[in-house]
Formats: sequence, C-alpha cells, structure tokens
Amino acid sequence: MRFETRAIHAGQEPDPTTGSVVVPIYATSTYAQDAPGKHAGYEYSRTDNPTRTALQEALASLEGVTEGSGGGSVATASGMAAASLMGYLLKAGDHILLPNDAYGGTFRFFARVLGEQGFEWSVADPTDLDAVRAAVRPNTRLMWLETPTNPMLRVADIAAMAEIARDAGAVFCVDNTFATPYLQRPLDRGADVVLHSTTKYLGGHSDVVGGGLVTRDAGLLERLRFLQNAAGPVPGPFDAYLTLRGLKTLGVRMDRHCDNATSITEWLSADSRIEEVIYPGLADHPDHSVAQSQMDRFGGMISFRPVGGIEAAHRIAERTELVFLAESLGGVESLIEIPAAMTHTSVAGTDLEVPDDLVRLSVGIENVADLIEDLDRALS
Ligand code: PLP
Repeated sequence: MRFETRAIHAGQEPDPTTGSVVVPIYATSTYAQDAPGKHAGYEYSRTDNPTRTALQEALASLEGVTEGSGGGSVATASGMAAASLMGYLLKAGDHILLPNDAYGGTFRFFARVLGEQGFEWSVADPTDLDAVRAAVRPNTRLMWLETPTNPMLRVADIAAMAEIARDAGAVFCVDNTFATPYLQRPLDRGADVVLHSTTKYLGGHSDVVGGGLVTRDAGLLERLRFLQNAAGPVPGPFDAYLTLRGLKTLGVRMDRHCDNATSITEWLSADSRIEEVIYPGLADHPDHSVAQSQMDRFGGMISFRPVGGIEAAHRIAERTELVFLAESLGGVESLIEIPAAMTHTSVAGTDLEVPDDLVRLSVGIENVADLIEDLDRALS
C-alpha cells in the first residue's frame, strides 16, 4: 500500500467485535483474564492498550517499517517522553552528541537533566561532517539529529551522519517532527531510530500532545518496549485516538502546508521589509541541495528576520490576527512565534542560542491569500 492508504488503513482494521471502521477508544486500565496469566494479549494499559497498538502500527508503517520485519514503534505521552526513553538506553558515563540547532526542550533534557546525572554531552554542527567526526568520542553512544532543524531550518545529510554513527558504534536518532514521514524517511537513510513529537504535524490539529519512536531494529524495539512499560510515559487511549484521527489526513495536509509555505516564502523574499527568509526550498538556502536529495518537498516551516531587528520581530508577532502568536507548530492553523523569547529560552547563552530577531512561522492550511494579507497588515 502507498503512503496515503497506509495512513488510513495500517493498524486500523475494522474492530473485530463490532465492525467499527474507526479504531475504538479502549478506555480501560485493565483486562479480564480467563485464568491467571491467560489473556487475549492485553493485561494492563500501561503495558498495552488496543488504541495505542493501532497508533504504533500506523506510525511504524508510515516510517517504512514493514509488517513482520521485527521493527515497530512505541507511542509516548509527548515528544519529550520519547526523548527520555532514548536517554534510558544509556548508562552514566556515556557521551551524547547533540546538534547545534534543535528544539530547546531536547537540549534541556540532555544537557540539564542527563548532563547533571553523570552523562557527557557535547554539541557539533551537523552540516559540517568533519566537525561531527572530530566531536565523536570513544564513549559516544547516542548521536542526535533534527533535520530540518528548529528553528534555523538547517538541513543535515542523514546518510552521512548515519555512517559516522555506525563507525562510532552509537545509536543514531533522527527527530523527524518537522519533515514528517510524508516528506522524509530517515530509516531508509540509515537512522536507527526516528523520533516524533506527534503533537505537531502527525496529530495535525493542535488538540493533543504525544510522541513516538520508530525503529527497524528488533533488538532496539524490544528494549524500547521494555522501557515504555518500565518507565511508563504512555499516551492514554483518547490521545492515541486523536493522533490516529489526525494521521489519516497527513498527506493532504502536508501538500497544502508545502504549497502555502512556498507561496509565503516567495512573497516574503520579494518584500523590502524582510531582511532574510530561511526555507530549505529556496535555491539560496545553504543546504538546498541536501534538502533536495533527501526530502520530497520542503515542509511548512519558515523562519525570517525582518528589517528593524528585535522590535520589528516582536511587533509583527503581536500584530498578526489570523496567524496566532503561540508556541508549537504543525497544526492546520498558522502560528507565529519568536523562538528566542518563547520556545528556545532554555538555549540562551549556549551553542544553540538563536538570533533574537528571528520570527518562526508554522504555515497552516488556510487560504494562502488570507495569510499573506494578515502578514502584510502586521508588517505595515
Ligand atoms: N522535537 C521537536 C522538533 C519539537 O519542535 C518539539 C516540541 O516543540 C519536541 C521534539 C518535543 O515534543 P513535545 O512538545 O510533544 O514534548
């Protein structure tokens, strides 16, 4: 089955007892057993829940894990819960290599939580492969990548990074939240694990927080399943249902996000009130050719810097009306934010610090003419 069909059908067979074409919300914490230890596959909902199972199968299928291959996914209560499960794969003394641009919360978890518990970490620019090679240590056990990065939208070569990780004997995890599997499939390029904040494009409607990890490696999956149950950061069945509901339309939404982002990028690029537009689809983007080689299209996220610096950036973000001033991204509604003052405050003063006049746009699927009119008003 092709992508759009798998989004609607993978893991989502009609319910065996009722024929319900939508996976039911199994609102139960426990399951009656026939005899001690003899049950229909479900014992307790932290361990497994049928609504979550359906979501896990759908997530795995969309990232290109074939059924019966031994790979699969674990769904988590948030994107950060997924990152924390990756942390549980490590032992104190292990080294984590982080990219120099990433979601602030990811950096906060590895540097400020694990870093204070005896883990080593350091940062390298993933678009500079020599710098990445030089940053690898004998005890590097986890290499992290976000591409495109949040919020600078740099694009790193997944296959080249995977090779460095393989040589280092490190697990290579790619956060695919910005691109989604509709546009980019890191497992095909050698990543060991893909992470998602399903809060974003996969859920797609800004109504649920969730996350997940996907892998083709049966041993890793077994360990992650063990950790999911042992540590317990699982999504409830209502959240799993909402995420599944969102997933069904991922392809059509992403096409529209990309169309709208392309039109807005063209409009911003031609506007004298804008200093710089950052979008991997632009021919003058420093990583455009890497993006072309590993992404089908360039996504719905745009960053830009207005003429007039930080004051102008804040003024624009406060003045848009249709485009809400809010954290997060990937929903059907457009959002605007100032990363340095909002999503990325935890990286202030570090290698991951972002320019204070940077504006980040999550372009929704509204009529693009309305979005451009709103931005034009805010820039005036
Ligand atoms: N990864 C990226 C790229 C993100 O943008 C975010 C959140 O903004 C996360 C991970 C964390 O996800 P969550 O907010 O679902 O915990």
